[in-house]
Amino acid sequence: MTIEVDTHAHSIASLHAYSTITELVAGAKKNGLKGFVLTEHGPALQNGLPHPYYFGNLSVLPKEIQGVRLFRGVELNIMDGSGNVDLSVKYLKLLDFVMAGLHEACFAPNSKRENTRAMLAALENPYIDCISHPGNPVYPVDYEEVVKAALRFGKALEINNASFKVRKGSLENCKTIARLAARHGCLVSCGSDAHYWEDVGNFETARLVMDEAGIDSGRIVNGTMDSFAGFYKRRKAERGAA
Ligand SMILES: [Zn+2]
Ligand SMILES: [Zn+2]
Repeated sequence: MTIEVDTHAHSIASLHAYSTITELVAGAKKNGLKGFVLTEHGPALQNGLPHPYYFGNLSVLPKEIQGVRLFRGVELNIMDGSGNVDLSVKYLKLLDFVMAGLHEACFAPNSKRENTRAMLAALENPYIDCISHPGNPVYPVDYEEVVKAALRFGKALEINNASFKVRKGSLENCKTIARLAARHGCLVSCGSDAHYWEDVGNFETARLVMDEAGIDSGRIVNGTMDSFAGFYKRRKAERGAA
């Protein structure tokens, strides 16, 4: 299974990540990627940083650096059970890829019912393209409901490679999500969630999980540059029209 684009990477602007954008590009090159999405955390995670202006100014970055395509994205915080997030629509409309996830600093782990409600609302939010690390065991959710909603709204669920190291207990949940995604045919994205340059394009365990579940390569939005272009252009148009 090929994965040509990494949909999840953080630079030093995410404050608890350790590489510059130029270093992330070097990592993407080293690991044979054609491109990656820069997805800093939304401002609510760490005292308003990076400031919303950071996302508004991403257009100053070249679209291609040293032969690697750079996409402008974000990893938003899901703030409540209604699918509200921490960056205003005017910024979200500028981006190529908008991911949102549950993080403890912004959404206290709740009952399975409430966590599921928040994730379903985020999937319904017309500005969000993908849910980051839905397999995080800190947030029990009804995976069948989440997979069906992703399918209904044409959104992607992430199989996050870093989760297997930093969110202990994610493996079984991600296997479940991958099996359900394969069965129902919902879209999936594969992200390294790199916080260090050498991890851009590291999909080692995520790839095994997707293979084992029998996910159709055509349902992986970032499998090829072409499939990713199809996905992000559709979503960008839908965001613009929302
Ligand atoms: Zn995250
Ligand atoms: Zn992340």
